[in-house]
Amino acid sequence: MPIHETYDVLIVGARCAGAATAMLLARAGARVLLVERDAPGTDTLSTHALMRGAVMLLSDWGLVPGLLASGTPPIAVTTFAYGAERVVVPIRAGPGVDALIAPRRNLLDAQLVGAARAAGAEIRHHTALTGIEAGADGAVRGVRLKGSQGERLVRAGLVIGADGRRSSLARMVGADVTRIGRNAAAVVYAHVPGLADRGTRWHYGPGIAGGAIPTNGGAHCVFVSVSPMRFRAELRGDLATGFRSVLAEVDPELAAEVAAAGPAEEPRAFAGAPGFFRRAQGRGWALVGDAGYFKDPITAHGITDALRDAWLLSRAILNGVPLADYEEARDALSAPLFAVTDRIAGLPRDMDALKALHLELNAAAKAEQAWLAGELAPGSRAA
Ligand SMILES: Cc1cc2nc3c(=O)[nH]c(=O)nc-3n(C[C@H](O)[C@H](O)[C@H](O)COP(=O)(O)OP(=O)(O)OC[C@H]3O[C@@H](n4cnc5c(N)ncnc54)[C@H](O)[C@@H]3O)c2cc1C
Repeated sequence: MPIHETYDVLIVGARCAGAATAMLLARAGARVLLVERDAPGTDTLSTHALMRGAVMLLSDWGLVPGLLASGTPPIAVTTFAYGAERVVVPIRAGPGVDALIAPRRNLLDAQLVGAARAAGAEIRHHTALTGIEAGADGAVRGVRLKGSQGERLVRAGLVIGADGRRSSLARMVGADVTRIGRNAAAVVYAHVPGLADRGTRWHYGPGIAGGAIPTNGGAHCVFVSVSPMRFRAELRGDLATGFRSVLAEVDPELAAEVAAAGPAEEPRAFAGAPGFFRRAQGRGWALVGDAGYFKDPITAHGITDALRDAWLLSRAILNGVPLADYEEARDALSAPLFAVTDRIAGLPRDMDALKALHLELNAAAKAEQAWLAGELAPGSRAA
């Protein structure tokens, strides 16, 4: 097949990791093609609480005002409940963060795609990666794409897989899994309109979790988590009934509010999958976001880390740093969070043990935020 086009960087997957990477590279003048097999502005299987690190990055990139203007409510308080015990944590203002936010994914991902386009990246939706082209030395030189223009061969200096947990690029280049988690939790969630906004609620009971995250359109993303075994036995067959019953078990008050609010959308389910790290780079290719590093959703940190790694990878590319350094930085920053997330995903039955794990999680998140604050401080940016 003849080569149809040539780019500096081709990125597969246009959600938080891929669109952010495209935006950062295009803002620095790189010729970027971003492809996505889905339609523009679509939702994806994910709840969407953003941690402070994500808000710091979005703020640095100038995207928070647009998200707020689109009706994303600011979140000023978080409540953790361990059985009957409540711990209320006000969200303190900090660098780039007045409040937390939890924009719907169709909005967040579309804002990032819009920012990438505005920076000069070319975006093609309804376009899927179908194969890679490698040179005689094994280095990836380009990709085969299938979209509205038919099959095309596109050459690129670097091909980036931001194509999620089941990354096609990772499979095609044979990116090894270097670490795998031991635990997994299943999640069932639905967006419910009309609940009182009391900030984010994270509730825990023995072997279960649930809560509510305020989001766009006056709705909350209400979720429950159970073990994959319980999900298969009790929820999978009838998601709506299972969702209501686990919610009533973990937080009867929230369950009553949800029942009073009337019918929500059909719940969506994630059956659970252990976390992993994959090798993040090789000759002519790199992985970013869930494609290279996935952890259980129980700590709601995947989007934060996808944005962080978009920042790390784009900076390595722009500074001409070996991509092995990007992988090393990603792994060093992620290891503590990955380890504690994996233990929380085991849904401990002992609430004191869970509280101790949450303190560990908080320390890991704070360390990441301190690192980011240094990186994002005016004048400290290398790229
Ligand atoms: C149930 C659940 C709840 C979660 N809740 C939270 C939360 O509250 N907070 C949080 O921070 N994180 C959460 N996460 C994690 C978060 O969803 C992920 O970390 C995040 O989506 C990773 O973004 P990404 O851009 O790397 O990949 P994705 O969002 O998976 O996007 C990958 C994109 O690549 C595209 N693609 C795949 N293959 C191809 C191909 N061959 N060609 C073209 N395009 C392709 C896909 O269509 C997709 O749009 C949750 C995850 C789950 C499953």
